Amino acid sequence: MILAGGRGTRMGRVDKGLQPFRGGTLVSHVLQRLAPQVEQVVVNANRNLPAYGALGVTVLADELSGFEGPLAGLQTGLRHCASELLATAPCDSPFFPADLVQRLHDALLQQGADLAVATTLETDETGHTHTQLHPVFSLMRKSALPQLDAYLASGARRMDGWYKSIKVAQVMFNDAAAFRNINTLDELQKEEAAAGVPSLQDVACSLPGYDPEDLHVRDAQRIIGDFVQPVRGVEKVALRSALDRVLAADLVSPINVPAHDNSAMDGFAFDGAQLPPDAPLALTIVGVVVAGRPSPLKPGRGECVRIMTGAVMPEGCDTVLPQELAAAISDTAVTIAAGSVRAGDNRRLKGEDLSAGRAALKKGKTVRPADLGLIASLGIAEVPVQRRLRVAFFSTGDELRSIGEALGEGCVYDSNRYTLYGMLTRLGCDIIDMGCVKDDPASLEEALRSAGECADAIITSGGVSVGVADYTRQIMGRLGDVAFWKIGMRPGRPLAFGRIGANGRSAVLFGLPGNPVAVMVSFYFFARPALLRMMGADAAPDQLLRVRCTSPIRKKAGRTEYQRGVLSTADDGTREVCITGAQGSGILRSMSEANCMVLLPDEQGHVAAGDMVDVVVFEGLV
Ligand code: AMP
Ligand code: MG
Repeated sequence: MILAGGRGTRMGRVDKGLQPFRGGTLVSHVLQRLAPQVEQVVVNANRNLPAYGALGVTVLADELSGFEGPLAGLQTGLRHCASELLATAPCDSPFFPADLVQRLHDALLQQGADLAVATTLETDETGHTHTQLHPVFSLMRKSALPQLDAYLASGARRMDGWYKSIKVAQVMFNDAAAFRNINTLDELQKEEAAAGVPSLQDVACSLPGYDPEDLHVRDAQRIIGDFVQPVRGVEKVALRSALDRVLAADLVSPINVPAHDNSAMDGFAFDGAQLPPDAPLALTIVGVVVAGRPSPLKPGRGECVRIMTGAVMPEGCDTVLPQELAAAISDTAVTIAAGSVRAGDNRRLKGEDLSAGRAALKKGKTVRPADLGLIASLGIAEVPVQRRLRVAFFSTGDELRSIGEALGEGCVYDSNRYTLYGMLTRLGCDIIDMGCVKDDPASLEEALRSAGECADAIITSGGVSVGVADYTRQIMGRLGDVAFWKIGMRPGRPLAFGRIGANGRSAVLFGLPGNPVAVMVSFYFFARPALLRMMGADAAPDQLLRVRCTSPIRKKAGRTEYQRGVLSTADDGTREVCITGAQGSGILRSMSEANCMVLLPDEQGHVAAGDMVDVVVFEGLV
């Protein structure tokens, strides 16, 4: 039985067992360690029973009411124990020995004891050594229940207090550190850090002057980039299905492409060494070579072959005179004017496109149409790609209505789920649309939990601005490691970011603001790069174009602004950008009309008409 029934007082009353830990939760790690040692695992929990139940175990709540400590759990466990022996381990101690139960069992039988308990030797500050009892790691007989009942009935609650009434075997373990437990969120985060999973605090603190209430865009981007990790999981897909997917391994070319030197033109192939420096050359045509049909012809001095594009160069030939450059052509001879071709011209070299044994494409590359063709040219039919990222998203707000519902007074249709759908689909994610969630704590918690269970990343919109953020903050804080930021930017100032844990799984969380333009801007500049990193993609930084701005822009220095723009070509052929009218963060039309975003960095003040600005273009060619 895993003891997970405590109040988690020292962890700020969180449900300790469900805290995210090394890609799972604390309890999932304890379960993993305990399961191979026993016949069946049950969990003793007094809150969030369904979340524990989702681990596939029976969950038992204390029969004694009022969070009476581990002994209350033990009592319930003994009452419902299907076997003669009950072993216990706490939910906050995921490192215990793999032979714990076996050794307790051996001692119990050997000594004819009612209970076996783990002990270690500990040395205190003064250098004295004592035996430390670990009563939460024990194995007991079901027959000891009456003694435990009597002890609890007396009102006592000490974990080892009832040992006086039974026969106890102490079992010494050498590795004291294996019994360490995690009592505070601080300790939990230290453990995560030790395992290479940094806490947000660790990541954020590496930035000098980190202030969640006043964060620069680039600092928020840095923290997010440092925090998220690529997900694991590779699948092999048929070549066509690899389009827009991320390569999970280098693709090494098994062959040279092209496999032979060949002609780049229709014309005449010959040995370029015989070209005189400044006189014409006449050559006798000794045959014809076409693509796909290598020929045994070996033109000698004064000879050439007629050759088609793609045909293998005959032995001894290194130069092709394009047909249209010939000075004269008859059925049997061709004349080459002085200077019309140089030795080596119009010949494609073996392996010049791709050479055998070299990586033709690198891991992390997103496969585009050119890559499909390139992979096909290698004769490769199946491609290893990263598994798709699963992204769950939902909108929050009592005022939101879904399409098809009547729009009551003060209500708006939920548009954010549609822009998010579009952006995530374009990014190649598997999406889980969780609908609209009401502005109430229980609904939000439920939605976050189930999203955390099934997704790699969660994107929410709304409910993170000042005022409403209070309960969001509380719930997100309880479910994981989440920071609430105010970012020096417009639109999109508030942002929640971190990790949410649920049922042994965890997901990266982006709590985007509610305003429709703010959602898109925060998605593009914060979520998108992070999702690409999680997808294992080598994403190049945004390509900025520097162009003339045709209209003045009022802009406050000290924050980054993302204005929606229309990029066009002026009469003189240079490119220019103008702003798409009203820039309110609720005016989605400004995004729809735009074909680019004008990026105005922190240091930028007002822009005068004619000034140069940076833009990011929305759509690429391929
Ligand atoms: P909030 O951040 O929740 O205070 O929302 C800010 C503004 O964005 C409010 O005017 C909301 O009505 C609006 N909003 C929030 N979510 C959505 C949504 N999914 N679709 C359209 N507008 C929204
Ligand atoms: Mg709202």
